[in-house]
Amino acid sequence: MGIVFDIQKFSVHDGPGIRTSVFLKGCNLSCIWCHNPESIKSKPQLAFESSLCIGCRECEARCENQAHDFTDGAHRIDFTRCTACGSCVKGCLAEALKIYGKEMSVSRVMDEIISDRIYYERSGGGVTFTGGEPTMQFDFLMELIGACRGEGIHVCVETNGILSDEKRRRLAETVDLFLIDYKATPSALHKELTGMGSEEVLKTLAFLEKMGRPVILRCPMIQGVNDSENHFAEIRRIRDTYTNIRQVEIMAYHSTGRKKWETLGIPYRLEQLESVAPEQKKRWEEMLRDQKEKQDSLEEQTQ
Ligand code: SF4
Ligand code: SF4
Repeated sequence: MGIVFDIQKFSVHDGPGIRTSVFLKGCNLSCIWCHNPESIKSKPQLAFESSLCIGCRECEARCENQAHDFTDGAHRIDFTRCTACGSCVKGCLAEALKIYGKEMSVSRVMDEIISDRIYYERSGGGVTFTGGEPTMQFDFLMELIGACRGEGIHVCVETNGILSDEKRRRLAETVDLFLIDYKATPSALHKELTGMGSEEVLKTLAFLEKMGRPVILRCPMIQGVNDSENHFAEIRRIRDTYTNIRQVEIMAYHSTGRKKWETLGIPYRLEQLESVAPEQKKRWEEMLRDQKEKQDSLEEQTQ
């Protein structure tokens, strides 16, 4: 059994073809821009959308832990008291309450995956395990991967790359394609923004290159936070160093995750930041493309 917080069908942004993306709960990082903050804690958790609340107080009546408070007419939740039992969610007709994360068996998840097999076959797609950091539920993940391989389904794993040697080895033996994040340069900034340095990410890239496993490098880009020339130079260096990197994707910051932080009762550090404009994303992509084209043409000239 594992804790899954979402299964998205017909995904076209998490690897090749049409895919089913399975989101596993739990993460070893806490990126300040995270747009899936419901993924960070390993256990199921309550979320409250205050704009939907009609003030009926049914939740207060149902909660054995006195987590709901209506002092001064305002509905507040003490999330530290909540055990995510779900009783108040069932009583909320306005659907202002929700539990993120539910326990699922490998076979239950596989039923969801296999039901879309025809789309994978026609599009060259498959399944992508993501999160959170899917390797936080390693045994569950490995069982799912094994079951997918048994069914002949292409497997991608999206990971932040901060893995033990054993996890690296076992994943490299069995995963078809890795989606790996590279988030900030230098390592000290990576640590400040995510909670850990980038050394293990580079170790993972080097190991996967040695094992001949293909990687798509994904770079979350947040204007004024990590979009330094230094960072772009490092992304280019990584792309040009590791021969197993098939593609580099810029993941431009969008502020849609902000609301989720609020519903979970967690302060959001990028409160004032707006989503990146499409033109800015294009400029970033051109910065990477320009450099690659320049290098290719330089190499052609020197051959
Ligand atoms: S049960 Fe739902 S609508 Fe009623 S007070 Fe609680 S959160 Fe608000
Ligand atoms: S999920 Fe359970 S413990 Fe949490 S607030 Fe609702 S009733 Fe109380």
